[in-house]
Amino acid sequence: MSEAVGDLYEVLQVPRDASKDDIRKAYRKAALASHPDKVPEAERETAEVRFKAVQQAYDILFDDEKRQLYDTHGMGAFNGSGEPGMSGGPDLDDILAQMFGMGGMGGGMPGMGGQARRRASPNEEQKYEVKLEDLYKGKTVRFASTKNVICSLCKGKGGKERATAKKCSTCDGQGFKEVLTRMGQFLTQSTVVCSTCNGDGQFFAAKDKCKKCKGKKTNEEKKMLEIYIPRGAKDGDRIVLEGEADQVPGQEPGDIIFHIVEEEHDIFKRAGADLMATIDVTLAESLTGFSRVVIKHLDGRGIELQHPKAAGHVLSPGQVLKVPGEGMPIKRSDARGDLYLIVNVKFPDEQWKPSAAVLERLKEMLPKPDVRIQADTIDEVEYDPKGNAEDFGSQDPAGGTAWEDDDEEGGTAQCATQ
Ligand SMILES: [Zn+2]
Ligand SMILES: [Zn+2]
Repeated sequence: MSEAVGDLYEVLQVPRDASKDDIRKAYRKAALASHPDKVPEAERETAEVRFKAVQQAYDILFDDEKRQLYDTHGMGAFNGSGEPGMSGGPDLDDILAQMFGMGGMGGGMPGMGGQARRRASPNEEQKYEVKLEDLYKGKTVRFASTKNVICSLCKGKGGKERATAKKCSTCDGQGFKEVLTRMGQFLTQSTVVCSTCNGDGQFFAAKDKCKKCKGKKTNEEKKMLEIYIPRGAKDGDRIVLEGEADQVPGQEPGDIIFHIVEEEHDIFKRAGADLMATIDVTLAESLTGFSRVVIKHLDGRGIELQHPKAAGHVLSPGQVLKVPGEGMPIKRSDARGDLYLIVNVKFPDEQWKPSAAVLERLKEMLPKPDVRIQADTIDEVEYDPKGNAEDFGSQDPAGGTAWEDDDEEGGTAQCATQ
């Protein structure tokens, strides 16, 4: 960098105890004197750099918070990302780091232009769908990943060993261009990355480029990665592979972050650490009992139930059997949630053709109806034994809104449809 920028007070030519008013006056004077539009063509590049330096010195010294940071820590306070008081945004950070970081190193370190700061390259975030079985048992997944890795031949320099990068003349080695636009009597400036050097501020001549990476500084490499999904992991959990994102010269590599997405399961529903499933039981089993496997768990185990627990107990449709400790594992503990089994009683279908005698005996054995509805008038009616609850309200001219109306009254329709 031809114009090494020194002390910010010197840039504006004000004493260290200058008032804000002094700083503003000095800034106006200096900006006017160094404005690229006010100098001959030949001096324009130099003037532009000086103009920028004046601008940035003013940005820091006129802002009380930034000025205090500068006074106590020097430019180092502005070289990292996310520094306090840097409400000016990352653009200002970048500009300052490049201008001052480079000046501080005397320009004698090829390949380091604008990279005085070590900033993390972007993280790579992706969704990862996991089966409930794998969330139950835990799983190690290995997969091949292609990523950019710092070139092993040039160590990320981009050029041959002895070669020196040439300073980019388009941006005067800064990696960015300041575009000045006049709006009425105001000048606004915006920063754009230099397209000639891709923001490096320098580049190697074709003959000097590294043979392996062709000047790109990185090469694509296949790497085997391994992630471990802990037992009990759940939807939304993150698994971080630190530093496995694409490498960028001069930056800490970012992380690959997997966001777990739990696949829907055919049999089990999950809520936190609890599981729920429906089991089928025949009418005979519900009445007379059984001892058998009712469901296969997520780890392949058969879950066996003994019914009844006490003589004479029957299972009703929709009855809930709670099995403690057979839910999902809870991460980093031996505890588990509970398993809720919903009983579905399978009544006999058309295949069942009992004789009149059998039915008569059943009638005798089973409990008698204990409520007789009393009414003065009685009509015997026809009925369709295969009616569909979804037809309910469908003849309403308003468009079959009966269900929705019910919903508004507190979700009774939802219960009815289940
Ligand atoms: Zn450039
Ligand atoms: Zn290389």
